[in-house]
Amino acid sequence: MNLVLFGPPGAGKGTQAKMLETERGLTQLSTGDMLRAEVASGSELGQEAKRIMDRGEFLPDELMIRMISEKIDGTPDTNGFIFDGFPRTVPQAEALDALLAEKGMPLDAVIEIRVDEQAMFERIQTRARESGGSRSDDSAETLMKRLEVYRKQTAPLLPYYEGKGALRTVDGMRSIEGVHDEIASVLDGLSKA
Ligand code: AMP
Repeated sequence: MNLVLFGPPGAGKGTQAKMLETERGLTQLSTGDMLRAEVASGSELGQEAKRIMDRGEFLPDELMIRMISEKIDGTPDTNGFIFDGFPRTVPQAEALDALLAEKGMPLDAVIEIRVDEQAMFERIQTRARESGGSRSDDSAETLMKRLEVYRKQTAPLLPYYEGKGALRTVDGMRSIEGVHDEIASVLDGLSKA
């Protein structure tokens, strides 16, 4: 089973992906985590990535598509993938469709974790405080920019996936467990269908 977890910064995609990974033997593919690993390695790509991430902007589509494709190829034994933070643009979504088709893998669902903007803003700021600022892209200024980029470049993916009949929406304002339960029942419904 392959899923996309979709939602604005702070919606809890990473948290939910990790729970699904543990429970269902799926593999989380988080492009944000891949980029942070690159930053931590100190590579040239990592240094450039950090500059872009700290501005709240996106890295080039081709780079992100290549990273995801390599990760899929490097993970042969899995029950499926949870795409977390990818795709974030329509060209990335088109590339993912092509990649999956080429590899003979279905995309079973796109799960939108819907939250309200004010709540999400507060959540990210709490995360920034609690983590002692380990994510340098969680400052209020970068966050505003990330939300703006989300609205412009990522929100158009909702009608894209809705048109394909793949979109399922869960209420991201519930507790972590509550959101997890909703996602679980969507997935259980899919495997019965
Ligand atoms: P995330 O951890 O998913 O919130 O990602 C953190 C940052 O990494 C984003 O704000 C972007 O700067 C960059 N990033 C992550 N995934 C992508 C992607 N699919 N396309 C472009 N940039 C990305």
